[in-house]
Amino acid sequence: MIFEIDGDKLVLTAPNSFTLRIVQERFLPEISKRALPFFSAPPQIELRIEKKGAKPVTEMIVEPVAARNAAPAAKVAAKNPNKLNPALVFDTFVTGKANQLAHAAAIQVSETPGVAYNPLFIYGGVGLGKTHLLQSIGNLVAKQNPQARICYIHATNYISGVVRAFQTKNFDEFKQFYNSLDLLLIDDIQFIADKPGTQQEFFYTLNSLIDTNKQVVITCDTFPKEITGIEPRLTSRFTCGLTVAIEPPGLEMRVAILLQKSTTSGSPISEDVAFFIAKHVRSNIRELEGALNRIEAFARFHKRPITIDLAKEALKDLLAAQNKQVSMENIQKTVADFYRIKIVELLSKKRTRVIARPRQIAMALARELTQLSLPEIGNAFGGRDHSTVLHACKTIESLRNSDSALNADFNLLNQTLRG
Ligand code: ADP
Ligand code: MG
Repeated sequence: MIFEIDGDKLVLTAPNSFTLRIVQERFLPEISKRALPFFSAPPQIELRIEKKGAKPVTEMIVEPVAARNAAPAAKVAAKNPNKLNPALVFDTFVTGKANQLAHAAAIQVSETPGVAYNPLFIYGGVGLGKTHLLQSIGNLVAKQNPQARICYIHATNYISGVVRAFQTKNFDEFKQFYNSLDLLLIDDIQFIADKPGTQQEFFYTLNSLIDTNKQVVITCDTFPKEITGIEPRLTSRFTCGLTVAIEPPGLEMRVAILLQKSTTSGSPISEDVAFFIAKHVRSNIRELEGALNRIEAFARFHKRPITIDLAKEALKDLLAAQNKQVSMENIQKTVADFYRIKIVELLSKKRTRVIARPRQIAMALARELTQLSLPEIGNAFGGRDHSTVLHACKTIESLRNSDSALNADFNLLNQTLRG
């Protein structure tokens, strides 16, 4: 059974009609009563049957907190694609090593639009805060200069705009609109790949805005040169300003984000609980928020304080799915294969660079991807001491900052292991 809050409606999705009927006949009054704390008035309840091939049950979450304050995010953006979402501002953007460069550039661009870097190109994986940063720029510029003509648009909406302009032969109007902007924020530009008409149009707009010192900020899921299906003249224009990456947040930053989000939502969690969640939810910030919402909902539903045990229960499905995934054997094999060395060498006492470095990487990955303690990890690497593991983790962390090739290897291995 999936519980979802949709505005002032509670949506229950049953796996089949049988369950649906039972719920309908026996449990509606009880559900309605228990759901009350999540709504300002008794909610309307909608019953649905899960469609085959739809999202798996474990991905669905109850999001009462989000539904109350944060969530307008997606909705606002969907309804009026050119408008800024007031919830996405710099104040609520947590910074750390993974995003501080992008954050600094975004601030600078907001303070001196059209002057600092043009275009500013921000790239990074899904759920890492690209849209949040982009919107923050818009909101700050709007605050400082209410007169400024600002447009936030997702690339798919831009494409629709081009198509519509074609159909209605309103190209002049379309061009005029974009050329008259002071700030153009275009999100997820990778979507214009393989759309030559849109690319041509965007190329003109981009040039015209940059030439007149109007700021353009672009986000993308990959490094510009790696996007396929986009004309080279366009990708090279993307990089003529400043290109910055947003990386996946490390453990401490994930903890900081959880602490901040839980404080904002009015039910602050302890650092212990934050560490627990952050250790288990590693992929991106959106999932981190999802896990937190789920825990908060669970706690309210059962009227219990948020403890590690409660978090474990609330995230049961997620944890079960994860435990299957990354094993120590898997890490050692993947790293050994990657560096073309043998697993026995990885576990041996050999200290030559070609063996020792991959070993340190494997240890750092084990620290990041498993729940094993330092001594346990040391043990798994031929009975090494916990301080050796700690040293390895620190070495790799600092190397990742200074050695971009090593950092790329690490990220690749990390992603491969996460599946
Ligand atoms: P992307 O556009 O890169 O896929 P989003 O900007 O949509 O990611 O971010 C996903 C969610 O995580 C959003 O709810 C956003 O507010 C939140 N988020 C991302 N980065 C941060 C951050 N540094 N601090 C706080 N919240 C963040
Ligand atoms: Mg986005």
